[in-house]
Amino acid sequence: MIDVLAIVAHPDDAELLCGGALLGAADRGQRTGVLDLSAGEAGSFGTPGVRAEEMARATAVLGLSDRRTAGLPDGRLENTIAARLAVAALVRELRPRVVIAHWPEARHPDHRAAAELARDACFVAGLRNAVVDGEPHRPFKLLHALTYQEHAPRPTFVLDVSAQMERKLDAIFAYRSQFGGKSAMGDVRGGGDRPLREQILAHHAHYGSLIRRRFGEPYFTREAMLVEDLTALGVNSF
Ligand SMILES: [Zn+2]
Repeated sequence: MIDVLAIVAHPDDAELLCGGALLGAADRGQRTGVLDLSAGEAGSFGTPGVRAEEMARATAVLGLSDRRTAGLPDGRLENTIAARLAVAALVRELRPRVVIAHWPEARHPDHRAAAELARDACFVAGLRNAVVDGEPHRPFKLLHALTYQEHAPRPTFVLDVSAQMERKLDAIFAYRSQFGGKSAMGDVRGGGDRPLREQILAHHAHYGSLIRRRFGEPYFTREAMLVEDLTALGVNSF
């Protein structure tokens, strides 16, 4: 049983997108996990051995209860029936309450495929008659992480990660072969020669400003948010 599970395309995606959410949940004593759909074997930087070491370090920083690799092909992720069934079996095993996935219109084709694959696998995992090992289980909530997305709607909510931001950076930069000495990488667009660390901080400071906090992570849900007391609403209008 996992409280918060990130289902992402590559090792380091969870750290970049929702490291703050995973750290915050672990800080509250909740069980957190990451399911990397591929092992990142098509990456341009680092050897498999180095990347495995870096992932172990990042996993320790995040304090994850569980981390799995689905073994799907890096660079060729597809939302096929076979892939859905394979991921659904892992969802049944890990039994998450909340799943965090990529944004379905992300720039990287693997990220787009991973977003839909995660969503469909969560649905299939709950089907009693699906040809999948394990007891049926459907997560209660699916979130899409909007971090770094330039073509995305206004977030449904922003999570305050001020208390987690330094450790989120530590988890990201555990992948030294991927991010060391860079000013831009993947979805994290650069700002001239601004170091990547500062660029990531600037993104999170922007999301944080949307909720009047130091740092935030933006999320999208298809469902509306429940409010019971108008006077308890946060974030001032004026
Ligand atoms: Zn990725």
